[in-house]
Amino acid sequence: MHKDIDEILIPRAELEARVKALGEQISADYAGRTVTLVGVLKGCVLFMSDLAKCITVDTRMDFMMLSSYSGAHSTGVVRILLDLKESIEDCDVLIVEDIVDSGLTMEYMLQNLKTRRPRSVEICSLLEKPSRRKTTVPVKYSGFTIPDKFVVGYGLDYNGIYRNLPYIGVMKESAIERK
Ligand code: 5GP
Repeated sequence: MHKDIDEILIPRAELEARVKALGEQISADYAGRTVTLVGVLKGCVLFMSDLAKCITVDTRMDFMMLSSYSGAHSTGVVRILLDLKESIEDCDVLIVEDIVDSGLTMEYMLQNLKTRRPRSVEICSLLEKPSRRKTTVPVKYSGFTIPDKFVVGYGLDYNGIYRNLPYIGVMKESAIERK
């Protein structure tokens, strides 16, 4: 375990099993169609690459990068730093996100993508923190429900670090102060 991690909340094997199950569920739901995965950079990267390998229907991949306007906590005021490369008109879009916390980022994404006239838009999030939810965005595919703790690993960072950890972990308070 990394020296800055206090506790492993979701070990690697559990992530692998859950991602495989999500991939199977998505493959069944989108049978006969092409799914367009829209990853939200950078947090989606590890999750999306593993998930995509578990999807058996035809799959496109595109990415967006968003930035919250102010402070540590999401305000829902979002800036698009990198937009989709392709049109999603008439496509079955599945947004792939690392974590839905307040839900404000996903609410913005949903509204924004819906104006581009896709055939459908759904959300797939590896993690959800329901205790902090401020919106009713429907997360159709949800990996794990976690308590209100700041987690890193498997794509999630703290100050740009820890994304490569192969598990979801809770950081040590002492490490948060130092970094
Ligand atoms: P929301 O708009 O749902 O409040 O915020 C979602 C974003 O906040 C995520 O994409 C992620 O960047 C960040 N976030 C929320 N909770 C955590 C957490 O526990 N750990 C990390 N690393 N990022 C988080």
